[in-house]
Amino acid sequence: MQQVVILGATGSIGSSTLSVIAQHPDKYSVLAVSANTDVEKLKDICKRVSPQVAILSGLKPCSNLTAEFEALKTQLLFGEQALCDMAAHPNCDVVMAAIVGAAGLPSSLAAANAGKKVLLANKESLVIAGELFLNAVIENKAQLLPIDSEHNAIFQCLPQNFKRSHLAESGIRKVLLTGSGGPFRNVPLDELEHKTPEQAVAHPNWTMGKKISVDSATMMNKGLELIEACHLFGLKAKDVEVVIHPQSVIHSMVSYIDGSVIAQMGQPDMRTPIGYGLAWPERIETGVEPLDFFAVSQLDFEQPDLNRYPCLGLAYRAFELGGTAPAALNAANEISVAAFLQNRIKFTDIAKVNQFVLEEVVVQAVESLEQLLMVDQTARKMASKYIETMVI
Ligand code: NAD
Ligand code: MG
Repeated sequence: MQQVVILGATGSIGSSTLSVIAQHPDKYSVLAVSANTDVEKLKDICKRVSPQVAILSGLKPCSNLTAEFEALKTQLLFGEQALCDMAAHPNCDVVMAAIVGAAGLPSSLAAANAGKKVLLANKESLVIAGELFLNAVIENKAQLLPIDSEHNAIFQCLPQNFKRSHLAESGIRKVLLTGSGGPFRNVPLDELEHKTPEQAVAHPNWTMGKKISVDSATMMNKGLELIEACHLFGLKAKDVEVVIHPQSVIHSMVSYIDGSVIAQMGQPDMRTPIGYGLAWPERIETGVEPLDFFAVSQLDFEQPDLNRYPCLGLAYRAFELGGTAPAALNAANEISVAAFLQNRIKFTDIAKVNQFVLEEVVVQAVESLEQLLMVDQTARKMASKYIETMVI
């Protein structure tokens, strides 16, 4: 029986994780769940799965709430430190890192430092901390399994004995990172500035949290995933090709020197990579229907246009700059996306804010988590200040 800690249990990935686990009560039990501030949703989860511990990481201790959860036989913890404590808890076997944004980094790193099996949905951890995060995984013999569907797909398409960075030894020519192109793929460029948050979060294929949905519309998501893939598999940017594939049926591919291209396909449903991560190297039922090729009928591919998706270009630039540049870009993007969702800036301003911060920030070599969190804060302040100067 594997004891699972689900960080970000009230979110989209958190819900899908709970759904897969519920299908295998003989294999997994939920040790702890966390939410930022959503008390009611967290309580609902506790009623359903009776975890030993629940965490409200964004709230201060409150005795009334503690009593309400106690009635459900769940111990309630408050504050961010509880996330790290549960991620490293001796009874925890598996950590699902499904908090959104840089806020997920300290706890996913704590899980890696404690040598846990880490199911990483929080791509921002790798974007921000890169080698620092991977070194923690290696030094503490943690197991890192990518949950982001593209990275999970690449992991499935690589040979079993693949060693990070050793592409030539495995006969690999390129990794093909697919993305849908989001809801504005065919919108005339001069109309993009009028797109609303409601239109931006209406992803054509996937149902996800708001932040990642906006990132899909700008393709910053693919940019973050490019950086994530390079760190995970030890690739250079030139080893990865971003391919727009509007149907989201192929979740990514690996191209080999003999001309073979291996793709991982399936419904756009995160329960597949979550199930694969939970059960690896075995496979389990996830409740996802098999792909109906006759219903899909057609697979299309396009090259991304960086004029349409300037955020993708910024991610390439940040990765090339290296050091703390990706952390700064990620922080700027979290601020600009939040401002867009609050109707404070236009859709096309997201890239402008991100570009401003990437150009202005001083890039340093990565040294520590504390330094990265400082860079994150500095970049957030720069982005917020710049946004104040913008007129919507
Ligand atoms: P979501 O917004 O639906 O859920 C986020 C979760 O994190 C919630 O439980 C929320 O309470 C918690 N949270 C939010 N802010 C927090 C903070 N400051 N501190 C602590 N907890 C906080 O997000 P999601 O779509 O489930 O995405 C989660 C992560 O998984 C992101 O990193 C995203 O990029 C990645 N991801 C998501 C999908 C998807 O299909 N949703 C696919 C691939 C990767
Ligand atoms: Mg993805």
